[in-house]
Order: sequence, then structure tokens, then C-alpha cells
Amino acid sequence: MALIVKKFGGSSVATPEKIIAVARRVLKEKNSDDQIVVVVSAMGDTTDDLISLAKAITDQTTGREMDMLLATGEQVTIALLAMAFAKLGHEAVSMTGFQAGFTTNEMFNKAKITDITADRVRQELNAGKIVVVAGFQGLTKNGDITTLGRGGSDTTAVALAAGLKADHCEIYTDVDGIYSSDPRVVPTARRMKEITYNEMLEMARLGAGVMHPRSVELGMHYDMPIHVRSTFTQEPGTFIREEYTMEEKEFVIRGVTHDTNVAKIAVLGVADQPGIAYKIFSTLAEANVDVDMIVQSVRAMDKHIIDMVFTIAQGDAPQAKKILERLKTEMDFSGLMIDENVAKVSVVGAGMLGNPGIAATTFGALADAGINIAVISTSEISISCLIELDRVKEAVNAIHARFFPN
Ligand code: ADP
Ligand code: ASP
Ligand code: MG
Repeated sequence: MALIVKKFGGSSVATPEKIIAVARRVLKEKNSDDQIVVVVSAMGDTTDDLISLAKAITDQTTGREMDMLLATGEQVTIALLAMAFAKLGHEAVSMTGFQAGFTTNEMFNKAKITDITADRVRQELNAGKIVVVAGFQGLTKNGDITTLGRGGSDTTAVALAAGLKADHCEIYTDVDGIYSSDPRVVPTARRMKEITYNEMLEMARLGAGVMHPRSVELGMHYDMPIHVRSTFTQEPGTFIREEYTMEEKEFVIRGVTHDTNVAKIAVLGVADQPGIAYKIFSTLAEANVDVDMIVQSVRAMDKHIIDMVFTIAQGDAPQAKKILERLKTEMDFSGLMIDENVAKVSVVGAGMLGNPGIAATTFGALADAGINIAVISTSEISISCLIELDRVKEAVNAIHARFFPN
């Protein structure tokens, strides 16, 4: 007997026919004594459509009511999938995030799971039912519905697999595994058999939308290998796990990612004195605005004044603007610029540790393509460059071609 958590993303359950196909596949692959939990996302573009609905009413599209709205998408899918199982002759029960025991913190729109009490899920599995759980959602201690951030159903699945000590966690999606770059952007991208948690986490953080970063973090923390594979074919896809085999070790770089959900902020003419960076970044942090790349530059002509450039997620830009405009008056800096026409391209790979040639190769690829780099940042296993939004596809392909020549 095996306990298996299977997650199907939005495009896999986009129509009633696809929902029935998912139910058929799950039943076909199920051994008679297997216990199966299926986590699902909202159908097709439902979440985007719900966001558009909110935008038709207000530009206040953050906070509690937004989560109340967005969580409805997944609730539609769980009911329909449970009905599909019943029609095909297998007992199933649908559960919202709350019913499945997901408690989160109060951070609406990007909540973190704080606890899972999966007793009800276990009870239904022991009664022989397939349990269908709504991804992406939870409940605060005060009883408010929260969501886990875009793409968060992956995290529901991995968290549940860890909580239930499942034998397998499978993420079914519209690609047949993890590639060295988004295959929609880089046609020559290569599929990997395996990737380590660390490298996948870095790729996900730097824009590889195929996995929600938090899901990989949880997989790593609970040592729950994640198998990413296609809903539409039978072949094995990519295993995200601790170690990979020799065959996969030949590449120094594992992937080239891009992120267009970035805004560049320039705070100009700030007094060069202790506590300035602290004041700006702690005020943003208090409002839950994550700051990413940071550059502080000294002016040759005026030693007492500096400029700061940093990046945030585009969704946080309106809030950051409000905060920084207030600080501009308080701290008396001369200018504030917010630019959303930027994108971040990154190379990721544990093999770059102690391999200085990687940065040179990356910058060389961009230089030869005539693409300007506005900001650079690095981690132990990644290098990121902020560039002009219009050139992002070209940049990713140029860098990918250097590291993965055909
Ligand atoms: P789902 O709805 O199943 O969660 P997503 O759209 O969230 O699916 O993720 C799958 C998509 O991720 C793919 O269609 C692909 O375009 C994109 N993607 C981005 N980077 C990668 C990558 N490195 N490997 C595979 N797919 C990627
Ligand atoms: N439906 C949510 C989204 O579109 C969650 C998910 O698909 O994982 O972001
Ligand atoms: Mg997804």
C-alpha cells in the first residue's frame, strides 16, 4: 500500500473533460490498496479572471477580501473532481484548505502555512475514499481565509505530503518536467532527470514559475522528493531531491531563469549617514515589501549624498510608492523613480561555486547581444542581471546558448 499525493495545476483541470480525464488517470494508476490525495488548482485562467473582476471594482486588490475571492476558484475544481470520481465509480470527498486542516499566518495574499492537522484527511483515506483538496488556501487562527501566493497549490501538495508522510508527491503540469530554461521562451531548453532542492529553490525564486518556491523549501526541509511530470503523457519527468546522479553532474549551470514581475526603484540624493538604509528598508519590511537586488552608489561630485537602487515585486510597487513618498518628505531626499519596464535574468547552478568564469560568460553573452545590465546581484549558486523588459527573451536565449551549446 502506498500513500500518494498528486497535484494537478490549472491547465490540467481547465475544462470538465480535462477534469474527467484527471479522474480517469488517477483511477487507472491506482493500485487497489493505495491511498490517494489529489490537490487541485483553479480551472484554467480562473484566478486571473477573479483578479480582473476585482480590478473592475477597485484598485485595492490586496488584503482579506481578495483572498476570500481568490479561494473560490479552487473550491469549484474540488467539487467537480469529486463528482467525476463518483461518476467513475469511486468514492471521493472534496475538502477546502480549512477542512483539510491548513492553518496559516495572517499575511493575506502570501500567507505561510503554520500548521496542518490532517486528521480528517486521514480518516477519509482510511474509509477508502480519494480525498480531493483545494490548493493555495488556508485559514488564520481567527478564521479568515488566506491564500499562499500565486502558484501556491504546489505548496499545499508538498506540505500535505510531508504532513501525511506520503510515499510519493507528484506534481502534474503542462510540461513534462523541469527544463534548463522555460521551454516556452527557449525552444532548445533541455529536460533534466533530476535537480537538487537547493538549485530548484533558487530557480523558482528567480522566476522559474513551474514550481512555487515555498513548495521546494518544504520538500527540502522534510526531505520529501517531488516528482514533476506531465498530465498529458505517461513518461517520468524530473525528480527534485537531495542528490543527483553522476550523469547530471556534467553541467556547471543547471538553468537560466527570468522574472518579469520586477520593479526597479531609485531613491536619489539621500544623505550619506548611518541609519539611512535601515530606515528605508525596515519601513518597507514592516509593510511586507520584500526587497531584492540592492545597489548603493556614491556621487563623485558630492560625497555627502548617495543614490540607492533596488528591486521589488511589481505587485508591491503601489504600496512601496506610498511609503517612499512619505519617507521622501521625512528624510528629504531629492528624487524617487519607479520603473516597471525591467526584468531579471539569472543563471543558477551549485557548480558555479569557486568558478569565476560563470559571471564572465554570462556578462559576455549579454554584451555580445548589446544588452545593458542595470544591476547585478549574486548568491552562492546564482548570478542575476537586471535588464530592459523588452530584451528579456533575447537575453535568456543568448545566455542559455553559451552554457548549453547544441
Ligand atoms: P500549473 O498550472 O500546472 O501549476 P504553471 O503554469 O504554474 O502550471 O507551471 C508550468 C509552466 O512553467 C510551464 O508551462 C512553463 O512554461 C513554465 N516554466 C518556467 N520555467 C520552467 C522550467 N525551467 N521548466 C519547465 N517549465 C517552466
Ligand atoms: N490558482 C492559483 C494561481 O493561479 C494557485 C495555483 O494555481 O497554484 O496562482
Ligand atoms: Mg503552478
